[in-house]
Amino acid sequence: MSLDKSTVVCRRLVGRIAIVTGGAHGIGKAYAQRLSDEGAHIIIADIDGPASEATAAALSAKAGAAKSLGFRVDVSNEESLANMAAKTMEAFGRIDILINNAAIFATIPMSRLPFDEIGVDEWDRMMNVNLKGSWLAVRAVAPVMKAQKYGKIINIASGTAFKGTGGRIHYVTSKAGMLGLTKSLANDLGAYNINVNCLAPGSTLSEENATDEIKTMREGKANKRPLARTQLPEDLVGAMAFFCSSDSDFVTGQTLVVDGGTYMH
Ligand code: NAD
Repeated sequence: MSLDKSTVVCRRLVGRIAIVTGGAHGIGKAYAQRLSDEGAHIIIADIDGPASEATAAALSAKAGAAKSLGFRVDVSNEESLANMAAKTMEAFGRIDILINNAAIFATIPMSRLPFDEIGVDEWDRMMNVNLKGSWLAVRAVAPVMKAQKYGKIINIASGTAFKGTGGRIHYVTSKAGMLGLTKSLANDLGAYNINVNCLAPGSTLSEENATDEIKTMREGKANKRPLARTQLPEDLVGAMAFFCSSDSDFVTGQTLVVDGGTYMH
């Protein structure tokens, strides 16, 4: 018998309710698929409303899967996040897991300009979505998690936050902010049995219709890693499932870098 990855997925999340912001595309979609495979009901909360609905419908349609739901959410908007929490409660009556994955990155692209060529408006938009959006999303679900005395919050940073990079200072700074956000929230929410951790992916081929230029760029990172191959969304889902499950019940405030060893602490 061959032991491929699908053989070893367990079902640690049966009955759990998981919100994945930015879950309609790219890596967020892969997190949603894995959590659904582990038995959770998924809420796809993405600014792309039709893709959110389609992704949730595809998850629900898989044999044996729990029902999932998808709708448009703008994480930079408090009202939209209040609506996300209310709709989730109406449909499922709990919120167990929040993955703060939505970002301006590939699907809604960012510029990779030098620091002094990025406009003030673009800086503000980046911070509003990537960093403030994550804080606001936690504020929206925290009352429910506190009342349950249970919650798993996973923030998404990036390997670039540890190394820095030429260009896109607004993106890198927003991701470095996720490290502090994680530690502060872990302190504030520990008393309520809420774990707050962070996942930092390396350069990942997440684009749905990657151009040759993008493929070359992502593949070019492979020879800078001890594990010398292109990183794919599937490389991140095991670490995510760990943070979402009871296997990580005594882990909080931590950041796990999943990048094939490109950056070592
Ligand atoms: P992506 O751009 O495809 O995914 C981001 C998702 O967020 C998209 O579905 C997008 O529609 C959604 N989104 C954007 N603005 C939003 C808003 N205001 N409200 C709600 N949803 C919004 O990129 P990805 O590669 O899948 O990245 C996923 C996460 O991983 C991001 O946080 C990204 O910063 C991080 N990351 C990616 C890489 C990589 O190389 N791909 C590396 C490190 C970290």
